[in-house]
Amino acid sequence: MKKQILALFLLIIFLLAYPAFAQTTAIRAGNVIDPATGTIARNQIILVKDGKIAEVGPKVNIPASAEVIDLSNAWVMPGLMDGHAHLTLNIQSLDSGIEAIYLRESTAMRAFRGLRNAQDVLQAGFTTIRDVGNDANYAAADLRDAINKGWFTGPAILTSGKIIAPFGGQSKRIPPEQGRFWLHEYIDADNVDEIRRAVRQNIYYGADLIKLVTDTSAFFYSVEEIRAAVEEAHAAGLPVSVHVMGGEAARNVILGGADSIEHGYMLTDELLKLMKEKGTWLVSTDFPEAHIAAMDPTGAFFGAPPKVLAAGIIDRLKRAHQIGVKLVFGTDSVDNLPGKNRADMMLDYLATWEAAGITPAETLRAMTTEAAILLKIEKMRGLIAPGFGADIIATPANPLERIQALRRVMFVMKDGKIVRNHNLTNTD
Ligand SMILES: [Zn+2]
Repeated sequence: MKKQILALFLLIIFLLAYPAFAQTTAIRAGNVIDPATGTIARNQIILVKDGKIAEVGPKVNIPASAEVIDLSNAWVMPGLMDGHAHLTLNIQSLDSGIEAIYLRESTAMRAFRGLRNAQDVLQAGFTTIRDVGNDANYAAADLRDAINKGWFTGPAILTSGKIIAPFGGQSKRIPPEQGRFWLHEYIDADNVDEIRRAVRQNIYYGADLIKLVTDTSAFFYSVEEIRAAVEEAHAAGLPVSVHVMGGEAARNVILGGADSIEHGYMLTDELLKLMKEKGTWLVSTDFPEAHIAAMDPTGAFFGAPPKVLAAGIIDRLKRAHQIGVKLVFGTDSVDNLPGKNRADMMLDYLATWEAAGITPAETLRAMTTEAAILLKIEKMRGLIAPGFGADIIATPANPLERIQALRRVMFVMKDGKIVRNHNLTNTD
């Protein structure tokens, strides 16, 4: 008898709790943007069930139990993606060298910073973030896992784990007495075997992609060394992204078969054409002038004044676009300007894309469907279509007319959960 009472009790609990698991949301969307084609479908209903998009169309049946969201006056689109972020890193100034940043905070503190930034960027409409290293001892992997467990609300995070680089990481001339403290953030790998081992180490600790840095010193990776990383990563289904500015190092990266070049500020037209031919993505991390100035006001660290560097970045983006290199929006935002959080800083990069003459439709594509392909999540996220994760945002103005409309995201849904819903009368 006792057993039967217990069973009945469990059944009642299950029935009470069931609607929470099977929550259905219907969004009445005035304008649904398909970033892949740059087209708009009017007056659609998006039905969201169990975190996924179940149906989209003008005549979708809305179940009586569904929560209905009215976005009939808004522009609705898939959540944004940043292809190059460092959620756990923050740089106040480069005066004391990049190495000082690694020494001042524990991995735990870095994870907390990552959590705060992750929540800020999600509120602004970034539902997927590719975190490309500099996260101390795999803090971004823990951050990703904590969000995936449901402990915190945050974007989907893909992380590279530690950055793999030739001896010294991105540090410069640390006295030998100090030891290789850069290993807190980097793995030294100086031949094919060490590179394979480093890739495996990152996979072991939970990497979703592999990140190499190749041209911080006079020595850089050969085609064979890049190819070793690519073979090892691809065998595990992971893409390879490489921090490289240009020159012979960049040529090796392209010929070695890396999936993406990060930054590439010194890429010549010839190298950009080679990228187009080989299908190498450019994650262009186009710092606006004010951001460069915040890190290095005099140009002492980067070797040129902020104005000159910013103009060069716009020119490189313009040339890459004209040549037809595949572009993914990535910010590399790690610095601070007064009154701006990490999301505000990331959205500042839209101005660079405008200045480079890239159309709003192309920019939005680089932030959604194109990014999803590079991240190898194009069958799960980046489109408003049945079966895709319900990562949906909305703006009061049309971003296909002016991309800056993305600065005012009023609605954010991540995996079917509403994390922001400011109606149209709210002006903030
Ligand atoms: Zn970076």
